[in-house]
Amino acid sequence: MTQDNRKPFDTPEANGWHWQTNILHADTQVPAGFAAMPVPVARASTVVFPDLAAMRSLDWKNDSQWRYGLHATPTSMELMRRLASLEGGRHCLLFPSGLAAISNVYFGLIKSGDDVLVPDNAYGPNREHGDWLAESFGITVRYYDPMIGEGIGALIRPNTKLIWLEAPGSVTMEVQDVPAIARVARERGVLTAIDNTYSAGLAFRPFEHQVDISVQALTKYQSGGSDVLMGSVVTVDDDIHHRLKQARMRMGVGVSADDCSLVLRSLPSMRLRFEAHDRAATALATWLGARDEIAAVLHPAFEDCPGHRNFRRDFTGAGGLFSVVFHERYAQAQIDAFIEALRLFKIGFSWGGAHSLVVPYRVPSMRTATTWPHKGALVRFYVGLEDVRDLQSDIEASLKAHLGGA
Ligand SMILES: *Cc1c(COP(=O)(O)O)cnc(C)c1O
Repeated sequence: MTQDNRKPFDTPEANGWHWQTNILHADTQVPAGFAAMPVPVARASTVVFPDLAAMRSLDWKNDSQWRYGLHATPTSMELMRRLASLEGGRHCLLFPSGLAAISNVYFGLIKSGDDVLVPDNAYGPNREHGDWLAESFGITVRYYDPMIGEGIGALIRPNTKLIWLEAPGSVTMEVQDVPAIARVARERGVLTAIDNTYSAGLAFRPFEHQVDISVQALTKYQSGGSDVLMGSVVTVDDDIHHRLKQARMRMGVGVSADDCSLVLRSLPSMRLRFEAHDRAATALATWLGARDEIAAVLHPAFEDCPGHRNFRRDFTGAGGLFSVVFHERYAQAQIDAFIEALRLFKIGFSWGGAHSLVVPYRVPSMRTATTWPHKGALVRFYVGLEDVRDLQSDIEASLKAHLGGA
């Protein structure tokens, strides 16, 4: 090795420090005068303070202070701002999945001895989470008929602390009367949390109906790419926000700036994508509804969907998700063969991306408070951004091959 090759490491640079030190202490701030459209990716574990007074004056309730990379960086903060304003809330917290956001609502608001009400058609892992808490932590979780409306009042007990809502249910599509349930809950001093993933925050505005907490699986439309897992909790009330924020800090969960930047990249097109999914799904559901193999279409915008009137009153759109119930003459094995023969609809749970998806569900085993009225097999479709003519041909070919459809 020559003297020259070692020089950067051995000889101090102009400021008196060596290369190895200067590579660490370069001024890495974005220089004034540089402008570009994307939100910069600010990755950080530790955040550094200008002096000790700044460090000592940290107040965990103050969302405008930078404290630790786990809690917020400028990238996650920008995403939180945009999501809170989308839903008409004032505060937002981000989580590594939609389910982690749901979990945080339980841990932030519920303690042993409390009672929670969950709609019978809720997102499955929410039910499982509630059951697990009930078994392990001495709370009670009870399931209620999603169509109960203001009848929820009769179920409220002195120790009821939280009522979950989900409208529509993401498999069976009943649309709850959210305003009625939220009003009764507020009168009785019970908090309400809605899983608002179906509407992406675009088609339903929970805080206009007195709901306290809105949860989103950003994994769905907000990501839009089937490549990010993230969740959000949006609130209006400071005290509820602080309770949820404290639980989040205690559990040590956070999100990466890189993932936030992917969601920030997808948000501008979300409304247009949602409308395109809605148009294609409505067209396919209408076409399927007229077919002989189908006993019922479960789509909130269709008149025979339970809660359709609530949907008409409270929602401004439907997105790409709907279910159908096949005629009971078909065996599950035939339905399974139909699904597996689809070429464009992939078998998978997490919708919201560009690709169409399909999942069969056995609904009776998913319920404890209500009786499922249909006999035939339920299949949920998520309609992506493919050309809808190709999607229809795909379904038609598979119906013909496996269910004898003309
Ligand atoms: C997907 C989904 C979730 C959970 O989101 P993950 O990010 O997959 O944990 C919660 N609620 C509903 C309605 C969902 O569709």
